[in-house]
Amino acid sequence: MNIKAVVAKKKFGQNFLKDETVLYKIIQSMPSNTNKIVEIGPGLGDLTKYLVDVKSVEAFEVDTDLCKILQEKFKKEIDTKRFHLNCGDVLNVWKSSLDGCLIDEPYDLVANLPYYIATNIILKALADPMCKNILVMTQLEVAEKFCADSGEKVFGSLGIITQSVGDAHIVVQVPPTAFEPPPKIDSAVFLIQKKKDRSDKIFEDMLRVAFTQPRKTLMKNLSSKYKKVKLLEVFEELNLALTIRPHQVNTKDYHQLYNKIK
Ligand code: SAH
Repeated sequence: MNIKAVVAKKKFGQNFLKDETVLYKIIQSMPSNTNKIVEIGPGLGDLTKYLVDVKSVEAFEVDTDLCKILQEKFKKEIDTKRFHLNCGDVLNVWKSSLDGCLIDEPYDLVANLPYYIATNIILKALADPMCKNILVMTQLEVAEKFCADSGEKVFGSLGIITQSVGDAHIVVQVPPTAFEPPPKIDSAVFLIQKKKDRSDKIFEDMLRVAFTQPRKTLMKNLSSKYKKVKLLEVFEELNLALTIRPHQVNTKDYHQLYNKIK
């Protein structure tokens, strides 16, 4: 298939990253280690061609037209086992994996993600014990949520789960003009360096309750599931005001709270 004839498919969230400066910045920001690279949604291979120069890459691409192009483009790398392409929906691979691992060796996720499922993919990677680092592009709003700190308006479950397993920061903000076709929103590349395999599922359930109504008080939200008497006792112990809102409490306090009420 002629590459020029490729029309981006909206349903697969296809916005191809063309800006060489941003591509270079992603490569430069990769953690140095011996982990394999997993790329989700290689698209036309613009990022892939740099990735295979650095390390071997395991890629997942849902669009069969793009898979054909990639197989041709990276024929040499496929032959030398520098590149392996899985054609299909990456979420199905995670779903059918018994241990929550996308592949069976340590890996870093490096990708310009499909935005419509980016949050879901990152949560899966955070919970995947084989995933060690996450360097991805998403829409700016999503990047800010994963990198948020307590006190910030956008601090919520995503920021707390991220801080519970590692450190996160935004690497660079990216304007729509860096892509073909340009998306309607700003984007950002961010890096999560994991220090723990994953966060506790039941802790995550508590967070869901804590943020049911983000503008209400934490006490009100938690009272819907936990005993008020116990909560009052623990809030006092941890010096948390009864009027405190969920985004104002830091990750360490959430863990202490969890250990006392679980
Ligand atoms: N990385 C490329 C393309 C990014 S666009 C670049 O930077 O240019 C997002 C890519 O993710 C597209 O190639 C799209 O087909 C692919 N994609 C969308 N949903 C997917 C899914 N569920 N599993 C795997 N790939 C997916």
